[in-house]
Amino acid sequence: MPAPPSSAPTGPPRSRRRYHVSDLFTRAQRVIPGGVDSPVRAFGSVGGSPVFIDRASGPFVYSRERQYIDLVGSWGPALLGHAHPVVVDAVQRAAERGLSFGAPTEAEIELAELVIDRVDPVEKIRFVSTGTEATMTAIRLARGFTGRDIVVKFAGCYHGHEDSMLVAAGSGVATFGMSSSAGVPKGTVEDTVVLPYNDREAVTQLFASHGDRIAAIITEAAPANMGVVPPEPGFNAFLKAECEKSGALLILDEVLTGFRVSRAGFWGIDQATPYEPDLLCFGKVIGGGMPLAALGGRADVMDHLAPLGPVYQAGTLSGNPLATAAGIATLTLADDEVYAAVDRAANALSDGLSRSLTSAGVAHTIQKVGSLFSILFSDDPAGSYDDVIAQDQFRYAPFFHSLLSSGIHLPPSVFEAYFVSATHDEEIIARILDAAPEAARAAAEASSART
Ligand SMILES: *Cc1c(COP(=O)(O)O)cnc(C)c1O
Repeated sequence: MPAPPSSAPTGPPRSRRRYHVSDLFTRAQRVIPGGVDSPVRAFGSVGGSPVFIDRASGPFVYSRERQYIDLVGSWGPALLGHAHPVVVDAVQRAAERGLSFGAPTEAEIELAELVIDRVDPVEKIRFVSTGTEATMTAIRLARGFTGRDIVVKFAGCYHGHEDSMLVAAGSGVATFGMSSSAGVPKGTVEDTVVLPYNDREAVTQLFASHGDRIAAIITEAAPANMGVVPPEPGFNAFLKAECEKSGALLILDEVLTGFRVSRAGFWGIDQATPYEPDLLCFGKVIGGGMPLAALGGRADVMDHLAPLGPVYQAGTLSGNPLATAAGIATLTLADDEVYAAVDRAANALSDGLSRSLTSAGVAHTIQKVGSLFSILFSDDPAGSYDDVIAQDQFRYAPFFHSLLSSGIHLPPSVFEAYFVSATHDEEIIARILDAAPEAARAAAEASSART
């Protein structure tokens, strides 16, 4: 039941009228559909014009006109802050030695070793260019390895824009209220089963009836594309146990959480009940802002990839030397001190925003996983996509625009997480929190667009 595509990305016309539309956005819309190369960037659900970025440095992004404190962080990669001099230098030095070879390099081995050293369940790894490619390949590999077709995903989890994963997906699909995407053949999603997140009973029942046909469960290690929705304690370990019983694989999608919430991603802080996913997907931080992603995991599964095995996968720019250099520099710099700084910033920021919302009398919950958080406009914590949908979504646009006009560049959707970096120090957080009371009052005064 795909939403009519024409109605989706235009957003609420009322907001469009309320907020100024810039010349650059008008010009962009003439030549680029919606004026953007990725839908959430279009400000569809909050109205107004996206900030066209001219440059970025540390905790800041800059338009031609002004400086903003950035809480988008390129949707995750900017863990060290924008344009970290060591990362930029590594990319510049790599560029001088050639932009792309289509042949293996020593740097790919080095990056592979860095990842394997951090994340125990990764025995072998393959580099691709985007998170979408990583999950797409992991799914194909799981099907090729098991000889089964069904893949289980959870409502509200986003795994990139591969056809079979565009059902009940998070991120832009959720932002624009699309249940799915046009252009995806029915047959492609027939083998995707969508279950409610955190629902053990639904998983157990599905495996009891169809366990021998299930190739894999794919899940965000901790969902952060429907806002942040923490897994209940032991949920991922439970999924692994269900998979193991029936010969299916667990694919842990750490594209967003990997190397962001800890040295070893969410898996690294989720070992109260130990478990080992069969495959993991990485993206975002692993490329340090360059197009690089990866899938990794059990060697016996990974060796089913061509050229060793029958599962085909390839990429002209895979393991690109500039991207690999940025990844190596980023992971090398991301030490315990960096993770401590990012945790401190996220705690101070989420506590402060919550205080302002409480003072303004706005019902809300801080949904949090490590240094990732989002604001849910409801007093009841959300454990599933249905819970997330039920919040007072209409409070977000005025909250967002109040902060934006105070010079805070934050995610233009209530369904996205906030991203801080190691350069978001006390002074930066204080500047954001100075602007928070006014934004909280704007959220309090908002009224539902439907009434
Ligand atoms: C961003 C994201 C993807 C897709 O990665 P792209 O590089 O945008 O293709 C997949 N899974 C998760 C969990 C993500 O957050």
